[in-house]
Amino acid sequence: MNAGALHLLGQAAVDDRGLFIAETFGPTFQGEGPSIGRQAVFIRLSHCNLSCGQGRGARWSCDTAYTWDFKTYNPQDPKIRRRVTLDELIAWVLAHPGALVVITGGEPFVQGVALERLVAGLHAAGREVEIETNGTLIPNEAVVAAVDAFNVSPKLAAAGGREVMRIVPAALDAFVASGKARFKFVVCDVAEFMEIAQLVERFAMDEVWVMPEGTSSDAVRQGLRTIAKETLARGWNLSPRLHVELWEDERGR
Ligand code: SF4
Repeated sequence: MNAGALHLLGQAAVDDRGLFIAETFGPTFQGEGPSIGRQAVFIRLSHCNLSCGQGRGARWSCDTAYTWDFKTYNPQDPKIRRRVTLDELIAWVLAHPGALVVITGGEPFVQGVALERLVAGLHAAGREVEIETNGTLIPNEAVVAAVDAFNVSPKLAAAGGREVMRIVPAALDAFVASGKARFKFVVCDVAEFMEIAQLVERFAMDEVWVMPEGTSSDAVRQGLRTIAKETLARGWNLSPRLHVELWEDERGR
């Protein structure tokens, strides 16, 4: 992570006046994983502690790099990053009754204290909340209690970068212990299934999903066909990318 991003990350971690977000969008459909197809509103938080696609060995790129790659994207541009108060965010969600609330990123747990307050506020308002995370930061008890589900997506070697950054045993153990985690792996091909199987066994992951990498409907469809048989054979679940099928890589969908 570059020095500028680290400075911004520090601001985000300690600020209690709200959260840095890239965007809110919806209602739309949850496009991936166990809740696929459900009506949902999304809060996409800024910042990430990983930089998938930029390290050695990377085979795919982060499709939300605008949340964290501030060498490429200007964080002073409000279309890239802006600070929103908790009250504003919760009011926006409450204007969309009934929809599942998905907090995604970036990596939401980078803004840990503010995230905790956001989830608590949404929970108190009676809303169902999922957090999408790369599984490298330990969730605290308050978040575990208030959230309905964690969609944990540990990054494999094909994301690039060092394993010690991508796979954090204490964090993965905590997500498993929460009883609320579903694990979703992005894959390029079946050669990565052994790597997934080792993680599943090592951390006793219960609910496992695999999803093909791809930001076009053609690529995702081809990926699904490539991995379907082996996914069945392993006893795992297969996730399309519904938003890509519907709207390709349009932002805010
Ligand atoms: S963890 Fe997610 S948001 Fe962060 S760089 Fe990787 S793919 Fe992008």
